[in-house]
Amino acid sequence: MIAASIQPRSVEEARVLYEKAKSGGAHVVELRADHLSYGDLGLLKARPLQTILTVRPTWEGGAFAGDEGERVRMLARGCELGAEFVDVEWKAYKDFPRGKAQLIVSLHDFAGVPATLESTIGKMKQLEPTYVKVAVKPRSTRELLDLVALQGRDPLKVAVVPMGEYAEPMRAFYPRYGGPLMFASVGAATAPGQLSLADYAKEVTDETRLLAVVGNPIAHSKSPEYYNGKGVDARMARLKLDRAEELREAMAALQLYGCAVTIPHKEAVARLCGVAGAVNTVWLEDGELRGANTDVEGAKRAIYRALEDDQAEWGSKAVERRAVIFGAGGAARAFVAALQEFGIVVFLVNRTRARAEALARELHCEVADRAEGLDAQIFVNATPLGMAPDVEASPCGPDVFDSNSVAIDCVYTPPDTKFLRDARERGATTVSGEEMFAAQAEAQAALLLRGL
Ligand code: NAP
Repeated sequence: MIAASIQPRSVEEARVLYEKAKSGGAHVVELRADHLSYGDLGLLKARPLQTILTVRPTWEGGAFAGDEGERVRMLARGCELGAEFVDVEWKAYKDFPRGKAQLIVSLHDFAGVPATLESTIGKMKQLEPTYVKVAVKPRSTRELLDLVALQGRDPLKVAVVPMGEYAEPMRAFYPRYGGPLMFASVGAATAPGQLSLADYAKEVTDETRLLAVVGNPIAHSKSPEYYNGKGVDARMARLKLDRAEELREAMAALQLYGCAVTIPHKEAVARLCGVAGAVNTVWLEDGELRGANTDVEGAKRAIYRALEDDQAEWGSKAVERRAVIFGAGGAARAFVAALQEFGIVVFLVNRTRARAEALARELHCEVADRAEGLDAQIFVNATPLGMAPDVEASPCGPDVFDSNSVAIDCVYTPPDTKFLRDARERGATTVSGEEMFAAQAEAQAALLLRGL
């Protein structure tokens, strides 16, 4: 069941949020009454949805700074007014008249996953609550997978609620891992990593195809918006993957059919699939990991867009055309292949020269220390420089561009980067990373959604 977690500052705001929770499809509201008073709880008399009453104290990560006696009095009052559930913190558990309210005993750790979590859950269960809730912060992919396993060991009584940047797949796909309860926001998130009620609009059933976009960092990825907006029974979440070697285990534990792979794992994941180069798409077929690279499609579309007006001229072998690619990773690899199809001579300029040399040997292109002096017309940013939050970064200075240049960016968050602005200011033609994104996503979706 989905609990819309609300933390109103007034009775009026509570009413608005209750209505939003109801129209958004929440099964129950978690009323975080941290900012309300004893008298305000009268609002429970006309509650439009079942309610979990919580008055979370500051010592448990909440906002209620008042007296502990007053806090317990508020909880008891909420039960008297008919709240269906009452959440009491394990750390300071107290008995009080609960009426018909069902008990939830909770533990919150915003800094990590306590080593003693499983034994603590055992002790919490001794209080015979309806549910035990543990909200903890996994600090690695490993810890996230351990939490999924923990949830699976006690699917009915224990709600494992992950917080933070590793949490998203477990939150988004929680019905598949056995959790009885998950929390979503209707207004501002009330916990780090919390998804919004709208993210649960499409139900996850046993048949739903689960997908992830894996990378590190991953918060910037727009892939879930793209997949979740499609009218098919598939859902995608962002999985922060520390090491490519953890992919197989993560896919099994999270019941993933396939993944979009992004920075910095494309080459390592290709090795896992037993293919050369880089892959940005993986899926399981007869238990085997298969990989493909649709970035080349994306790169080709970006080049077509850049050269729209004079493709024939660019494709002609009569004039030697030159391109500089900044970077030597997965995106650079895709652009080398795509540019070479146009007969364009490619130079790689990379922070780590040895990596550029290795790629150049494999794909038969050139390496240079800098873009200046190469007499190139096309410049491709295939590094993360310029990506939010470091939006003022660029792989080169503005002086490399002139009015005959073409600048193509792979970065698409934000869509307009310093690299592109510098190029535009010098009169160059520019192509945003969104162009590549759309084309590679289309080709990738054909693989990850096939058969649906
Ligand atoms: P990758 O395989 O990890 O390669 C990253 C490249 O950037 C490496 O050559 C690396 O140099 C270089 N680099 C990283 N940080 C740098 C820094 N601070 N200064 C200078 N160079 C740096 O990543 P990727 O998959 O190629 O992705 C690169 C960028 O393209 C990312 O921003 C990604 O989001 C974007 N991308 C977009 C699309 C799209 O559809 N629009 C598709 C693919 C990728 P070293 O060798 O020295 O580490």
